[in-house]
Amino acid sequence: SGFDTGPETSGALDALRRVFGYDAFREGQAGIIDHVVAGGDALVLMPTGGGKSLCYQIPSLVRKGVGVVISPLIALMQDQVDALRALGVRAGFLNSTQDLDERRVVEAEFVAGEIDLLYLAPERLRVPATIDLLDRGSIALFAIDEAHCVSQWGHDFRPDYLMLSGLHERWPDVPRIALTATATEATRAEIASRLNLESARHFVASFDRPNIQYRIEPKSDPKRQLLHLLRTEHAGDAGIVYCLSRNSVEKHAAFLSDNGIEALPYHAGLDASVRAANQSRFLREDGLVIVATIAFGMGIDKPDVRFVAHLDLPKSVEGYYQETGRAGRDGLPSTAWLAYGLQDVVNLRKMIESGEGDLAHRRRMSLHLDAMLALCETVECRRVQLLNYFGQTAEPCGNCDTCLAPPETWDATVPAQKVLSTIVRLDRERNQKFGAGQVVDILLGKKNAKVIQHDHDSLSVFGIGTDLRDVEWRGVIRQMLAQGLMAVTGEYGVLVQTEASADVLRGQRKVMMRREPERAIAKAAKAAK
Ligand code: ADP
Ligand code: ZN
Repeated sequence: SGFDTGPETSGALDALRRVFGYDAFREGQAGIIDHVVAGGDALVLMPTGGGKSLCYQIPSLVRKGVGVVISPLIALMQDQVDALRALGVRAGFLNSTQDLDERRVVEAEFVAGEIDLLYLAPERLRVPATIDLLDRGSIALFAIDEAHCVSQWGHDFRPDYLMLSGLHERWPDVPRIALTATATEATRAEIASRLNLESARHFVASFDRPNIQYRIEPKSDPKRQLLHLLRTEHAGDAGIVYCLSRNSVEKHAAFLSDNGIEALPYHAGLDASVRAANQSRFLREDGLVIVATIAFGMGIDKPDVRFVAHLDLPKSVEGYYQETGRAGRDGLPSTAWLAYGLQDVVNLRKMIESGEGDLAHRRRMSLHLDAMLALCETVECRRVQLLNYFGQTAEPCGNCDTCLAPPETWDATVPAQKVLSTIVRLDRERNQKFGAGQVVDILLGKKNAKVIQHDHDSLSVFGIGTDLRDVEWRGVIRQMLAQGLMAVTGEYGVLVQTEASADVLRGQRKVMMRREPERAIAKAAKAAK
């Protein structure tokens, strides 16, 4: 290929063939490798599975000295080093899981130049002894993996990463390569500025994963929806099912197993040995399903994951992209499927509000969620939306759910006004705030216990919404939240007005919504009975 000329002269192609046993570089790799081998700094954006590792591994082999790789994935270091050693590459790692003796051995190898790659956990740099150690060896390059962790705007900030800015000051002649599989333009700019990589060359690969079919549907009866997907489209396939909570992981793993689909749980609450065993079975055996929290998957390299299913809404588009990106690394057709509902929005808002961090942090999390909701509710091509989010353009793909079955839209201005009127009445006339459930019951004119207790049947809005069913109202509320026409807040997930609410109430803003497929509505209605 046209990429071969440069690397040939640098010995990179030779290393690719001889050490890694591959014939040719993938798109983008050769240019990056050439640049770093020649001593240049690089900022690399490449989707999961694109082949980032070789971009620093090969330069580490070709250049004089040891390649120092900073990675937050401590749990994977042993595996990564073992995999390299199996190829005959001399590699070691330093992190907090080792005892002093183990560490001493690796340190001695580093100083003596007896290894080509040293994986280093970022928190090691907090220890002055580590800096002294690095001074005593010869460094080929610094590779900063998962570089988005330096960004406070991103979705996975790690304070230890801020120390990495010091590398350049201390070792100005050592080339640096920062790599990430997820970064919006704003995050990319922040990575560059925090790591002093403004004058580095930026290599931005396409984020498109054409073999992944993106599908997002309303959550009605999630267990049945999942089972249907696996039985009709992915029988016998390996896949990942993501859930938000440990409890939900356990529940769904058991549910799948009860229904004849071999599924293993994975979450941080499990014993480390169980976790390791389940992970290694998933990697080695065919056709296993792993049901996991997002703790699972970072750095996992299983090429034939045929589907990634989300039973809960991811907190950000970055997270969604990263998690779905674990499907189809072999390039074969794969499914990214997500079911989400009103409760997801309420839960995540609650988590953000009660979560750690200052106000600015919570606001950022909230913006991340907004972007995720916009992706869910879009009537445009999912792929176009997704790539736009990462600053890339695309044509409608013809392969996602919205391309295959373009959703109808409907004018939901009046229903939106009814919802907002109810909120306003409760607030102004009763000085009360309620969650979606009570608002829907008031609209439907249901005399539930709370309605009677609070005399809500005397509100003028009581029973004005019998033209829609319960599930349809929940869909309306969900889409209103996604569009920012109102907000959900507080411990009880109460609905409140936003700036946009007034425009809708005054009739100055038309509200268009995506029509929910009748099949999903009917199912949800049945499940609710
Ligand atoms: P990333 O870190 O970008 O997610 P990896 O570096 O783990 O991706 O690479 C993904 C997979 O692709 C790995 O199995 C890797 O060995 C393989 N790979 C990388 N580069 C090449 C290449 N030039 N030819 C063939 N396979 C490659
Ligand atoms: Zn599409």
